[in-house]
Amino acid sequence: MQPAFYRISPVNVSGEGANRLMIVLTTKGCEYAHNNDGGCTVCGFMNHAREDITDGEIVGQLEFAVDNLDLSGVKEVDLLTLGSFLNDREVSPEARSRLLGKLAGLPEVEVVSIESRAEYVSVEKLRQVRELLGGKMVDFGIGLESADDHVRNNIINKGLSRKAFERIVKQVKEAGCSLLVYLLIKPPGLSETEAIEDAVKSVDYVFEIARRCDVRARVAFEPVFICENTLLEKLFKDAKYRLVNLWSVVQIVKRVHGQGTVFIGLSDENLSRDRLPSSCDKCNSSIIRALEHYNFNQDISGLEALTCDCKSEYEKSLKGVRS
Ligand code: SF4
Ligand SMILES: [Zn+2]
Repeated sequence: MQPAFYRISPVNVSGEGANRLMIVLTTKGCEYAHNNDGGCTVCGFMNHAREDITDGEIVGQLEFAVDNLDLSGVKEVDLLTLGSFLNDREVSPEARSRLLGKLAGLPEVEVVSIESRAEYVSVEKLRQVRELLGGKMVDFGIGLESADDHVRNNIINKGLSRKAFERIVKQVKEAGCSLLVYLLIKPPGLSETEAIEDAVKSVDYVFEIARRCDVRARVAFEPVFICENTLLEKLFKDAKYRLVNLWSVVQIVKRVHGQGTVFIGLSDENLSRDRLPSSCDKCNSSIIRALEHYNFNQDISGLEALTCDCKSEYEKSLKGVRS
């Protein structure tokens, strides 16, 4: 069985450019979304979920990728499920250990990232993941989305307190893992300018907590795209939400550059039907290329050199139109 989504793209691993395989495995889906009215307002993972999926089919998706893709140069694997990898009711302990065992057997892979909501995390489970990976570096990924409590819990419906997030950071440290924090760029209800400020402040918060807990941390930005069957899609169709302009993404990266490793997610996991952040037809692909380049080498010069006629229009439009 094929995974829900996979992509090989540039990434920076321990200061060196490399490739990463991002793979999203179809599972039963996110328990939090099941129990909370669809879960987070921007998330479309439930569109890929399959209630009757077996352990064999879950493991088979990773086997498909390992057997069929050219993984040379892939030093990082982001092993995503449609929810929480550490929730036994979404991924059984048996399936988890088979998946990690498969990755342990890939000698070129140095880092594996997994993702889970806070309620399923324990130091013991994280240590187990490390052991099953045979000593590879484990990046524990958590969707904080925003450091702002109102944005995170009232707008995105994340159901995550800062206290719980900070507890996780300490557990990650205790288990000897590193931290990967997902932050959204422009959740609904924020103007373009507010979204820029929200993203910058969120990065400040993440690296501050990581420093305080002495944990190695990375930030992965997810510029919001429109998924089917979400509250966000409804807002978008009612013209109550506008996608972020790629120039704002560039501005955010320039402002947070130097604080720590920052990655910009540029794929939609087959969920957006092309309703993705953009700028104009002339500069769209060059901005995406420059962001990919940044993901690879963390060198800001490519982003600083970007220019286009649409940029002055964009700058004029930053007047706080709420959408
Ligand atoms: S973002 Fe994560 S926690 Fe929220 S609904 Fe989607 S999978 Fe579940
Ligand atoms: Zn342009």
